[in-house]
Parts: sequence; structure tokens; C-alpha cells
Amino acid sequence: MTIENAIDTLWSDRLKAVQQRIELAARAVGRSPDEIRLLAVSKTFPADAVAQVHAAGQLAFGENYIQEGIDKIAALQSVRGELEWHCIGPIQSNKTRWVAEHFDWVQTVDRLKIAQRLNDQRPAEMAPLNVLIQVNIDSGATKSGVSPNEAEALAQALMRLPRLRLRGLMCIPDPQPDWQAQCAIFRQARDLFDGWRAQGWAMDTLSMGMSADLEAAVASGSTMVRIGSALFGQRSYSSAV
Ligand SMILES: *Cc1c(COP(=O)(O)O)cnc(C)c1O
Repeated sequence: MTIENAIDTLWSDRLKAVQQRIELAARAVGRSPDEIRLLAVSKTFPADAVAQVHAAGQLAFGENYIQEGIDKIAALQSVRGELEWHCIGPIQSNKTRWVAEHFDWVQTVDRLKIAQRLNDQRPAEMAPLNVLIQVNIDSGATKSGVSPNEAEALAQALMRLPRLRLRGLMCIPDPQPDWQAQCAIFRQARDLFDGWRAQGWAMDTLSMGMSADLEAAVASGSTMVRIGSALFGQRSYSSAV
């Protein structure tokens, strides 16, 4: 086997392993694995790594740092139409234009002011920007995300913005000691999401679950898991792109 072949095999093996985790977790609770999308979180990994994972069949990628994300989107411009780029990091007002002009999804909307700017800055020739409301589901004092109490009012305001398409909600609970605690928190996000859908709101995405708690998230109703280290390996922030 050549080195190139070995590297291709590595990425596709890792991707398959993550897909298998999703499948097992789904089947364990009687869900179809097709209900759960995989977002590959490529932060700190170079465009080359994204290209390899894309070659192995993965299409949706998430980035936390806006400039880093835009650099990778540019580096992979030749396959732009095949890829779906999600902004999953905090957004300051002075960065909204970059996000509106380059990304397909934003998972971290937690203020109307940011949503309004994304709406106003989304280029007319692009499809509406898909957005998720980030909910601070476990009410961590220092965390971003709108509180669960305020989330519904924000959702109503977002649905009036024509250049945004509200797809659901996202949460990043703190690490929990065990399975039951993980599920209890994910369940709160699920209840909020179900409540919105029960009002007839057209939403399809409940983004929750990372490398360490993917199974509990899938068991609790996640429709999108965001997986970084289980796919790309450990991150080293000092060598961030
Ligand atoms: C980094 C990150 C992830 C992926 O985390 P892993 O534990 O590496 O899977 C998912 N979501 C968000 C918002 C992140 O910042």
C-alpha cells in the first residue's frame, strides 16, 4: 500500500467508525440512522484534512473561528457546491458580513441583533442562510446561548426575517458525569424543540451531541451530531491554521 492509500484509508476508517456509532446509538432506541446528520467539526485542522474527509464521502463541515473557516472555504473553492459549511462559533457584530457571505448555516444565533445583521447582509444571489438558535440549556453562567425562557420569543422574531431560514436549535451542555445526566439535559432541549414543532413551526434540526456524548444525544432525539476529535484526532490549538 502506498502512503497516499494508507492516508485515504485512515480517514475513511475514522468516518466509518463515527457513522457506525451513530447507527448503533440510533438502532438501540429504535430510530433510523438516516434521521441523524453528521457534521464534521474541522476547527484547527487544515484544508487538506477537510479534503480527505470529503473524499471519503462527508459533505457537511463545521468551523468555530470565522477567519479560519473562510480560509478553508476558499482553499476548497473547487468543490464549494458539494460542501455545506456551518458556523458553530460565537459571532461578533463586526464579523456578521463574513458569515453571511460565506457560510450555509449558522448554529450559534442567540441575539436578535446578530440575526438582523445576518439577514441584512445575506447576498441576494445566495439561498437564505440556515440558522439554529443556540440555547444555553443547562444555564451555565458564563456560556453563550439564549436562556430557554427567552428562546421562543427569539424564534418568533427570527421567523420574520426573510433572508434567514430558522431550522431549529443547537446546544452545548457542559460535560456530565454519566449517561443519565447527559440524557436529562438533552431531553430538555428535545422538549423545547418538540414544543416549537407542535406549534406548526417548520423546523427539522436539533443539533446536539459531540464526540464524548454522541450516543446520549442520539438516544435523546438529536438530528445532527457535531463531531470533531473522534473524526480528526486531538486538536492542538497552538498549531491552529
Ligand atoms: C469543537 C466543537 C465540537 C466538536 O467537539 P468534539 O468533542 O471534538 O467532537 C462540536 N460543537 C462545537 C460547538 C464545538 O465547538
